[in-house]
Amino acid sequence: MTVHFQPTVSPEACPALVLNADFRPLSYYPLSLWSWQDAIKAVFLDRVNIVSNYDKTVRSPSFEMALPSVVSLKNYVKPSRHPAFTRFNVFLRDRFSCQYCNSRQDLTFDHVIPRSKGGMTTWENVVAACSTCNLRKSDQLPSEARMWPAHKPYQPTVNDLHQNGRLFPPNYLHESWMDYLYWDSVLEP
Ligand SMILES: [Zn+2]
Repeated sequence: MTVHFQPTVSPEACPALVLNADFRPLSYYPLSLWSWQDAIKAVFLDRVNIVSNYDKTVRSPSFEMALPSVVSLKNYVKPSRHPAFTRFNVFLRDRFSCQYCNSRQDLTFDHVIPRSKGGMTTWENVVAACSTCNLRKSDQLPSEARMWPAHKPYQPTVNDLHQNGRLFPPNYLHESWMDYLYWDSVLEP
């Protein structure tokens, strides 16, 4: 399978990286990005400062403006310590490998306690599983299927995902974002 690191936003869409007032990204997982329309709106509402621009501009008859590639909030927002519960973040927590056989092919999600037996769709009950293992386990409990996940599923911190993110470098990040993402330290083993 192809691993697409967030953001999956195409470069042509010109999203703006949103930094907190301390110049760290407002959120890492998912990475805080706004559409260029939202970024420009925030500039006019005086909620953000422009840190860096794209080469592209937008123009109307009366004005022309470079599209912001990085903006920073004027007011500090307390960041969340816990990443959002998303497909991507579950895969990242589980390092894009099946928790039953370690395969990286055809990854899906498995409810450790099946939904049919009251299992919830939560960090503590969902793991990455290849489609073969998922089919084999079906709607059985681990003890019935004799299949246990390699790691007990848990709610990760942003830091946990950073650690795993080292293994999966980003596919696309605008160059002007690099100074604010600390990927250099992240990419070093
Ligand atoms: Zn498997």
